[in-house]
Amino acid sequence: MKELEDRIREEGTVKAGDVLKVDTFLNHQCDVALFDRMGAEWAEHFRDRPINKILTIEASGIGIACSAARHFGDVPVVFAKKAQSINLEGEQYVTTIYSFTKQREFPVIVAKKFLSADDHVLIIDDFLANGKALGGLLDICDKAGATVEGIGIAVEKGYMGGGDRLRERGYDVDSLAIVESMDPDTGDIEFRA
Ligand code: 5GP
Repeated sequence: MKELEDRIREEGTVKAGDVLKVDTFLNHQCDVALFDRMGAEWAEHFRDRPINKILTIEASGIGIACSAARHFGDVPVVFAKKAQSINLEGEQYVTTIYSFTKQREFPVIVAKKFLSADDHVLIIDDFLANGKALGGLLDICDKAGATVEGIGIAVEKGYMGGGDRLRERGYDVDSLAIVESMDPDTGDIEFRA
């Protein structure tokens, strides 16, 4: 998606530790009009899939998933929680992921009442790097017996291989911008053609 690549080039900053910071429009301040156009792109890509639910993970996935849902017939969005809470009632699917940006393990929790074998799920997230976060969401879908119809990602760091490993496993991964290299010294960012 050229618009997203342009925004990353103009506003993204490359931090030490292989982190691309895009907090002016995606990870802290949110450009909701851009989110809407991203949702339209995923709706076009996955138009033949019988998607009845969108699954994401808190926090940055929620905004883009909710914008996308408007393009899929207002299907519900379920977001996995990263911590136990007294608001989480009933039986739960629980798995563990390693967070790239926080560099520690988190539980990933979805209440069983919100995901079942009847669901045809589109997974959406902001970033795909090693694929650990997505691995956790896929594990939860597997536990629920839900069908994963596809994966929509805003920014994939292609050189880290997580996206290609998922494609090799047969998942339809639609990343709107795939970074092939980024240089923390010059700030140069190259995208997959
Ligand atoms: P993975 O689990 O695929 O290694 O990393 C994906 C998760 O880590 C995303 O949900 C995102 O929150 C975070 N992440 C990974 N790389 C980056 C990055 O370069 N920039 C930002 N802002 N988040 C990242």
